[in-house]
Amino acid sequence: MKVVIALGSNLGDSQSILSDAIDQIGQSVDIQVVSKFHETIPVGGPEQPNYLNAVLIADTQMQPLDLLDLLQSIENKAGRVREERWGPRTLDLDLITYEELIMDEQLLTLPHPRAHERGFVLSPWFEIDPQAVLPGYGKIGVLLQHIAG
Ligand code: ADP
Ligand code: MG
Repeated sequence: MKVVIALGSNLGDSQSILSDAIDQIGQSVDIQVVSKFHETIPVGGPEQPNYLNAVLIADTQMQPLDLLDLLQSIENKAGRVREERWGPRTLDLDLITYEELIMDEQLLTLPHPRAHERGFVLSPWFEIDPQAVLPGYGKIGVLLQHIAG
């Protein structure tokens, strides 16, 4: 199964935190390509440091909820504190797409419910797969054109 995972960090040594997260993800899934790390200005939430964001594409046999579990355990190991919604975090790992799967549960919504409007997800993704389509939303290149900044 082809999956797209977005990574973000804006607390601590974000460069190493993202690199470590990629290593850990790579122990369980077969990573095909990783974008560069993009520095981005926080969207929403309180005033907070800039983020470092990246997107990777991987191949896996894991089921969607098992993959979410894996991502959350890696987030937790990185010391993510969930205090303030959309506040600063050491590590945020989002499952953006799982093949063409569409599901809408509180625990896991696919595609990720805010990916279509997030430049910090779409830009790194476009860098590594310019023809990609976000199921239900269309080509990411077109979505990007509709986002300011
Ligand atoms: P965001 O990633 O939008 O900034 P959070 O990381 O704080 O917000 O949200 C985490 C919650 O979102 C988790 O409880 C998780 O179960 C849920 N969730 C729903 N769909 C997804 C998804 N596709 N990827 C990651 N988390 C998801
Ligand atoms: Mg998240």
